[in-house]
Amino acid sequence: MHFPDGMKSFPLLLTAALAAQTVITAPENKYTPAQDVQLGRDAAAEARRQLPVIGDDQMTSYLEDVGRRLVAAIPPDLRHPEFRYTFEMVNVREINAFALPGGPMFVNRGMIEAARNEGEVAGVMAHELSHVVLRHGTAQATKATPYEIGQVAGAILGAVIGGGWGRVISEGTQFGIGTAFLRFGREFERQADIEGAQIMARAGYDPRDMANMFRTIEKQSGPGGPQWLSDHPNPGDRYTYITEEARVLRVDNPVRDTRGFADVQARLRRMPRAPTTEEATRNAGRNRPVGTTGSRGGDTRMPTGRVEAPSSSYRTYDENGEFRVSVPANWREVQSANTVTFAPDGAYGSRDGSTIFTHGIELGFARNETHDLQTATEELIDSLAGGNPRLTRPSRFDRTSIADRRGLHTTLSNVSDATGGLETVDVFTAQLDNGLLLYAIGVAPANAGDNYQRVFDRVVKSIELRR
Ligand SMILES: [Zn+2]
Repeated sequence: MHFPDGMKSFPLLLTAALAAQTVITAPENKYTPAQDVQLGRDAAAEARRQLPVIGDDQMTSYLEDVGRRLVAAIPPDLRHPEFRYTFEMVNVREINAFALPGGPMFVNRGMIEAARNEGEVAGVMAHELSHVVLRHGTAQATKATPYEIGQVAGAILGAVIGGGWGRVISEGTQFGIGTAFLRFGREFERQADIEGAQIMARAGYDPRDMANMFRTIEKQSGPGGPQWLSDHPNPGDRYTYITEEARVLRVDNPVRDTRGFADVQARLRRMPRAPTTEEATRNAGRNRPVGTTGSRGGDTRMPTGRVEAPSSSYRTYDENGEFRVSVPANWREVQSANTVTFAPDGAYGSRDGSTIFTHGIELGFARNETHDLQTATEELIDSLAGGNPRLTRPSRFDRTSIADRRGLHTTLSNVSDATGGLETVDVFTAQLDNGLLLYAIGVAPANAGDNYQRVFDRVVKSIELRR
């Protein structure tokens, strides 16, 4: 039997009609686009003070060409006339890139060097651009409490200069909780992947090159490779859904290898090897701006390790009218941008401006996009692991109750940055009505006995929310 071509095409057309491109809706946001612009502008100015931006016109204009091509492909409903898109290359080695609210984008030289073609560069840029047009930075802040709101700008800076750049420098503890603000969750990542794929296709690139670049980043085992992933966690099936979306989008003769890309890579090869971000920023931050805590530039004050046992009497603190908590009377309160830590003398120090503690408990709020407590807790632990590569993953969660809310508790272990010894990390979380995650993280050396676990339980039980 022979079927004419016309008959065969019928079911194919039907499939194409059913498989429409995914509709992405920007999340709820109580900020104005003008506020995005202001926040991003301040953070970009700070980034330029701290990071070695490459002034070379040819390289800048190459990045701008790719960027403008993508910007021209932003769908009409996601265009914000206030936004100003800028594209700058940073002379550091790590495979990383970030974009700030309102439009400023910075792409590391290491990213351009690792890309195999222009399509892969465009893939990362389209993903970053999608976070900007969907206004994910301020959408996260929308879910924050007033306790955090005043700190949004500082948190963005922390994400840029601190956690986003290989080390947590400005916000709170070595855990880098503060940077969780601009460290996107899985739902926003999925949105940026899909929206990025659609923008790429409209700009004439093959969205599968975005998936290829993510694979390259995953394979990169050096410092910086995993950093992009901890800021942009893989929702799990990234390659599958990007490939499926690409199938629907169908780009004929996509732009992949270009002369401009080859020229820029050749030029980079002739330059001296890029420094690491840490090398490049070591001396850049001696004059820290306001809005971040701690000092930088090699200032080291390690915990002494001489720590008194927790006092059996407790003292109650009121945290900015947000919550009350009671802690052993011989622990001191150490506030940072959006967390508070209680720790005994000798348990607390800082290195290169990042805070280290060996005994004590940190409390704070984290935004999250899911309303499922366990997923939100796993995301929190993902973000802890960004600054603590030897942190174990939870094997089980125990139900608990915190401030009359349903809570979870899990115990992890980690290798202390300060002592090199094994430490126990107790993570407590509860979901608040406003979608925020309340968390408490207790840290003590593994050989300190279960006394600390009892103290952490008591501290967590004492938490009273004030609103
Ligand atoms: Zn992302």
